[in-house]
Amino acid sequence: NREWILASRPTGEPTMENFELVENEVPEPGPGEVLVETRYLSVDPYMRGRMRDAESYAEPWAVGDVMKAAVVGDVVESNHGDFAAGDVVTGELRWADYATADGDALQPVDPDLAPVSTALGVLGMPGRTAYFGLLDVAEPKPGDTVLVSGAAGAVGSVVGQIAKRNGCRVVGIAGADEKTDWLTDDLGFDAAINYKTADDLHQAVAEACPEGIDVYYDNVGGEITDAAFANLNEFARVAVCGQISLYNATEQPTGPRKLTTLVQKKARVEGFIVSDYAVRFREATERLAQWVAQGDIQYEETVTEGLENAPDAFLGLFEGVNIGKQLVKVED
Ligand code: NDP
Repeated sequence: NREWILASRPTGEPTMENFELVENEVPEPGPGEVLVETRYLSVDPYMRGRMRDAESYAEPWAVGDVMKAAVVGDVVESNHGDFAAGDVVTGELRWADYATADGDALQPVDPDLAPVSTALGVLGMPGRTAYFGLLDVAEPKPGDTVLVSGAAGAVGSVVGQIAKRNGCRVVGIAGADEKTDWLTDDLGFDAAINYKTADDLHQAVAEACPEGIDVYYDNVGGEITDAAFANLNEFARVAVCGQISLYNATEQPTGPRKLTTLVQKKARVEGFIVSDYAVRFREATERLAQWVAQGDIQYEETVTEGLENAPDAFLGLFEGVNIGKQLVKVED
């Protein structure tokens, strides 16, 4: 059983040195536990926070411990009444070929509903983050202009499509022409900006949002957010979902900046964590599944083959390698 451990804590950008692949026995499931063979594991930006030795909304990983991840896999052995060998399940497991978990902490995955990998993406945590962050935190109204940063990623791509369904004008910001083309040509975004090639981001946002911004769904922070704030409308709502541009920073830049705009525009800025909506996960997953089935929401997955390449897949998130959800395929 191959397992990735956190070998050391990164300073700034993580490197391969921070990860070590070790070989251990396949664990035995204890009472109430289930042994799961990983099919797909999810690498996510929040994991950068877990590598840091700092208080957050979740415990940091200990150096020397096997790293955790959301996984979809097959039940190999079960000591829990809800699961039997051969069932497909998802839950927080490990960067590993096999792991055990308390059966109460696992959820069944219906392979007939959609490809099982979607339980880690559009029908999993990222999809639910898009759903609650947009609909509950940002409260878009038909006709609103919704600007999404990190728009071609797992969360952002779903945010934009839900906003379109709700009758909004949707503008995305992403870091490659291939991504902005995907947003406008395939996902129905009204406009998209490549922040890496835009000469003047403030100007580009102003041009793409001629009537100003009513909702800004922020996945990235930094200068992209400065440009968004400069173009907010009166009573705009900003949902702060993530700040990936700052996750590897060794010093936080002075700020937040542009707050005068919030005063002038009487705008609301609100952060949120998807896990706080746990009692409504079922509602979100059911509606997302329905929208996917209807074709209202399309999704993309960037699949890295092999557990041995999981750190590469994770590091790629900070370089913008992925379109849609970044996954690691461990076993078919
Ligand atoms: P993505 O699939 O969006 O992957 C990360 C993307 O971020 C990359 O593809 C890259 O795209 C972009 N990116 C990386 N570095 C930078 C940078 N310096 N500046 C701008 N963009 C950058 O990840 P997720 O969809 O899983 O997550 C999106 C955000 O949502 C993250 O900030 C994450 O932490 C947050 N999140 C928050 C949750 C919550 O409960 N609040 C839950 C889940 C996620 P590009 O090519 O466009 O640069």
